[in-house]
Amino acid sequence: MKFAVQDEAAMVAAGMRLAEACHAPLVFYLHGPLGAGKTTLVRGFMRGMGYDAVVKSPTYTLIEPYEIGPWHVYHLDLYRVRDAAELDYLGLRELQDDHAIVLVEWPERGAGFLPPADVVITLDYAGEGRWISLEDQGAAGKTFLEALGGVDLNPG
Ligand code: ADP
Ligand code: MG
Repeated sequence: MKFAVQDEAAMVAAGMRLAEACHAPLVFYLHGPLGAGKTTLVRGFMRGMGYDAVVKSPTYTLIEPYEIGPWHVYHLDLYRVRDAAELDYLGLRELQDDHAIVLVEWPERGAGFLPPADVVITLDYAGEGRWISLEDQGAAGKTFLEALGGVDLNPG
């Protein structure tokens, strides 16, 4: 599926809807150039999960963990990673537990050191706004996209 997202508020709203459809441990890869709206989408996702505090960009820490109800939500931003082997010590492949929801910006920079994606999200510029596309990778991702199915990610 591919959607237009006209402004920042709509990107936050889209992230909130993704969270509302997320009822299982899932790994999301977020692809797209700098400024495409990946962190904004994650902020909306966190808000949709019920997290009210500030979502910091993990550009320097690489990973920011959140405890939200039963969920362990991990927001990663691997922009600064030059060699994926730098991530070995973080044990990221272990993030796939029964309560883990993982959102990774710049996943291509962690290739080989990340759990596999269930859902691949691609963002890019579209005039003043952005577009998002979502693609499932396997059964859990397919179930998620079905839960999202018919949901208008860009109302109004
Ligand atoms: P990324 O994490 O992909 O580098 P950010 O989420 O930090 O991008 O967003 C970069 C800028 O784009 C921010 O100023 C944000 O407000 C803006 N932005 C996010 N989504 C949209 C959108 N759908 N339309 C227009 N601007 C957006
Ligand atoms: Mg970002």
